[in-house]
Amino acid sequence: MSLVFLGILIGGWVYPLLGYFIPLCMFLGIGISFFQGRKWCDWYCPRGSFYDALVKPFSPKKQIPKLFKRQPFRIIVLAILMSVMTTRLIFSWPNPYKIGAFFILMLSVTTTLGIILTLFFHQRTWCYLCPVGFLANLAGRGKHPLKIDSSACIDCKLCAKVCPMQIEPYKFKKEKPEIVQDWDCLKCKTCVINCPKKALKF
Ligand code: SF4
Ligand code: SF4
Repeated sequence: MSLVFLGILIGGWVYPLLGYFIPLCMFLGIGISFFQGRKWCDWYCPRGSFYDALVKPFSPKKQIPKLFKRQPFRIIVLAILMSVMTTRLIFSWPNPYKIGAFFILMLSVTTTLGIILTLFFHQRTWCYLCPVGFLANLAGRGKHPLKIDSSACIDCKLCAKVCPMQIEPYKFKKEKPEIVQDWDCLKCKTCVINCPKKALKF
């Protein structure tokens, strides 16, 4: 998927109609969330795959700023990006090439921002600001949740260490029902596979 992403990002500057791949991804990411939460953002998302496969080696893998995880901040980012997108679409209408070119420009700018955030913090920092990711978080609450068996968990914290979104599943073991109520979970199963006590499952 990361190669598909690079093909669209580079090819889109020559063939603007490739930009229509972006609203398709937005539609799929949000649509899937109604059933599977943020599962799209794992390896289906071409940009997420690109960050994981090609940009991650250059990341210092620091803590993602807490501000980026706060809902009011994410709402502001969503409002700004959606306003810019709507305004540009109105001005580009009805020229399909101009619309496609705008999507490619938007993809290039936000991907560059995501790369900068990767170089300063972590490869999935952008995933807390991405409008599709945030809307999938809102639409996918309670869908396909990660469950934790509190009697099996030994608090080794390995699940938190391996999580690409820096979620801390073990902290939810006191919840009733025993589910990890962090809706930015990508359902990637990395924590499930790594838990030494098999305390996590979907
Ligand atoms: S890896 Fe498993 S046992 Fe360790 S803290 Fe996480 S859930 Fe508990
Ligand atoms: S590692 Fe576990 S908690 Fe983190 S995103 Fe993957 S499935 Fe969700």
